[in-house]
Amino acid sequence: MDFSLSGEQRQIRDTVAEFVDEEVVPRAAEIDETDEFPADLIDEMADLGLMGMPFPVEYEGAGLDYHSYAIGLEEISRGSGGLGTVVAAHTSLAGNMIYEFGDERQKEEYLTALNTADDIGAFALSEAEAGSDVPAMSTTAERDGDGYLVNGGKLWISNGSVADTVTLFAKTDPDAGRKGISSFVVRPEEDDGFVVEGTEDKLGDKGCPTAELRFDDMWVPEDRLLGEEGEGFVHALKTLNGGRITIAARSVGIARAALDEAKSYAQQREQFDRPISDFQAIQHKLADMDTKARAAELLMHEAADLKIRDEEYIKEAAQAKLYASEISREVANEGIQIHGGYGYTKDFPAERFYRDAKLSEIYEGTSEVLRNTIAQQLLDE
Ligand SMILES: Cc1cc2nc3c(=O)[nH]c(=O)nc-3n(C[C@H](O)[C@H](O)[C@H](O)COP(=O)(O)OP(=O)(O)OC[C@H]3O[C@@H](n4cnc5c(N)ncnc54)[C@H](O)[C@@H]3O)c2cc1C
Repeated sequence: MDFSLSGEQRQIRDTVAEFVDEEVVPRAAEIDETDEFPADLIDEMADLGLMGMPFPVEYEGAGLDYHSYAIGLEEISRGSGGLGTVVAAHTSLAGNMIYEFGDERQKEEYLTALNTADDIGAFALSEAEAGSDVPAMSTTAERDGDGYLVNGGKLWISNGSVADTVTLFAKTDPDAGRKGISSFVVRPEEDDGFVVEGTEDKLGDKGCPTAELRFDDMWVPEDRLLGEEGEGFVHALKTLNGGRITIAARSVGIARAALDEAKSYAQQREQFDRPISDFQAIQHKLADMDTKARAAELLMHEAADLKIRDEEYIKEAAQAKLYASEISREVANEGIQIHGGYGYTKDFPAERFYRDAKLSEIYEGTSEVLRNTIAQQLLDE
């Protein structure tokens, strides 16, 4: 395995890192406090090509490979975990659904507008009674003339209240289990019956609105179906496999931010007439934090590298996301501990890193579900 980044990947990392240090880090506390979608930052990011990183230039994407995109997303998440989710839901999920499974017209029309961030994307799979158990979904899309009549609702949809393009999963054949699920492009502004019920008040991941959506006799034209009827479950799984690499990247970004902050605090905070970084107990915490973050980063790079080489990466992506999300929470926890009492307050970002890190263990496959996936792959090998 070649562990080194290519010249282009280094350049992307450095360019995004510079933008994040100048524009995102100074805004991160405010985004966390207000929980407002940072539309102006998104526009700036679109100008830099950061809202359509892995898609071809013919659709106004940045033309990067998926590995480079994950590197960019790690940097963005180092600045703000909420912004990391905004970009991941928009790109890895909504954008990728259209890029992988859309026809030429759908790509030209919907993917292009996502890549320029003229439109914001969301991916609507989960429901109140169907989270991990996707086939238990109850949203239906019934044939109606030259379109479909959609009824039901979705829960916890990242970007859901600000999205212009939503990739939606619904049952076209409710008796066919997972084979009865289809995927669609839905346009909230155009499709009557699309209702945003509200947004969640969450522990962290602020700035990325997590919405509850409802569909009341929402008519969707048939040219918005992605691929063929009945392919939706496979679309979801394939998209989430790739998405997990970028949630691993988000987790690593947050872990690195927590480590950087804790290290700098430990070097300037004095107790017993010396910096607390002189104490071996603190040094060992920093050593473990760095070791875990680096191990997670390597798993993420490996999964991303397998993906761009068109090799099997389901297990590796699940492992990268599982490990990175768990160590991200652990590293952020130690970050708070190193800050002592200050770490528990909002005077320092340590507690924000902890709240943001936690989410990665839940969405795009909980840690428990990922362990099931990994075990299944392992036993099938
Ligand atoms: C902030 C946020 C943003 C999100 N964004 C999106 C989004 O953009 N789009 C979208 O579609 N969804 C999104 N989700 C939903 C998310 O993917 C689900 O919450 C997740 O898949 C888990 O589903 P659930 O919450 O229904 O939990 P459940 O499936 O009810 O699980 C509850 C517990 O049981 C465990 N469990 C369930 N099944 C098994 C099993 N077979 N084996 C072992 N343990 C099991 C779980 O691991 C968990 O610990 C988001 C969620 C949050 C919190």
